[in-house]
Amino acid sequence: RAKSAGRQRIVFFQAQMQAEIEERLAIQHQLELAIAQRQLALYLQPQVDAAGMALGAELLLRWQHPVLGPVPPGRFIPIAEESSLILRLGNWVLQEGCRTLVQLAKAGRPLPLSINVSPQQFHEADFVAQVKAALQDSGARADYLILELTEGLLIRNLDDTSAKMRELAALGLRFSIDDFGTGYSSLAYLKRLPLQELKIDRSFVQDAEASRDTAIIELILSMAEHLALRVVAEGVESEAQAAFLRTHGCHAMQGYLFARPMPLADWLALPAGHCFLPAASSSNGRTDS
Ligand code: C2E
Ligand code: MG
Ligand code: MG
Ligand code: MG
Repeated sequence: RAKSAGRQRIVFFQAQMQAEIEERLAIQHQLELAIAQRQLALYLQPQVDAAGMALGAELLLRWQHPVLGPVPPGRFIPIAEESSLILRLGNWVLQEGCRTLVQLAKAGRPLPLSINVSPQQFHEADFVAQVKAALQDSGARADYLILELTEGLLIRNLDDTSAKMRELAALGLRFSIDDFGTGYSSLAYLKRLPLQELKIDRSFVQDAEASRDTAIIELILSMAEHLALRVVAEGVESEAQAAFLRTHGCHAMQGYLFARPMPLADWLALPAGHCFLPAASSSNGRTDS
């Protein structure tokens, strides 16, 4: 009996694995169509200063599938990263990101934009050429473009990384380390690479009340100051978190407390100089969410 129960379990796991593989293939297939059928969009989420003014925005990929509805990036990016799809997706993000920069400038609302770059995309031989092409095709300003790279990407091939970053930095691009503190943090690269910014990972910010995370945030901020790096805190959801970050001199904050990621049209519908502080803590009498 034990044997047949074991076999049943194996059959069950096989069926489950089969279902997962099929779902993966389906997502891959649907994602190929998504680019051609304009189901993708880049949403903007502001990064604000202590007064609630936008210093810039991060561009976050959104996929609206006609049947499945919205598919979150956490669901499809890892799948895209398993194949060359991520390269096409990444290139689309680069081009659309540059077009967004131009649209903002044309609307009289120029804004620095941060773009997420995946490791495969960055380590492609022609990545620098792709960035140049996206800038040239759109006419976007390179010094308004910030590339968010992860720690894993940076250390994967430090010589290649360093060479590419220097070439792009010479064009005026800036770099930020995304999810800082969660990867294979090696302090050596902070010195070797032309970086301008660290993004404190949401996991440290969310528990900013817990003493260990408080210490980690303080450490990151003081280290950044010594290295002349800007710090953005991500995932700021509460007034208490914002207050803590402000007191400790964090340069910029990003999170649901200020705004959720929104389409460009919504961004442009906000008045120029809009204050993103939640109504309770701002004096300009904003009443929306
Ligand atoms: P990330 O780059 O660390 O982006 C921040 C994520 O935190 C976003 O999730 C954002 O919507 C979410 N977030 C912002 N504020 C808050 C908050 O206050 N609370 C909580 N709980 N979450 C908040 P999203 O948009 O689902 O993206 C997830 C990840 O997918 C991103 O993490 C990034 O790694 C990846 N991703 C998104 N867009 C792109 C893209 O265009 N290219 C690449 N390669 N990756 C992307
Ligand atoms: Mg990011
Ligand atoms: Mg991040
Ligand atoms: Mg993150």
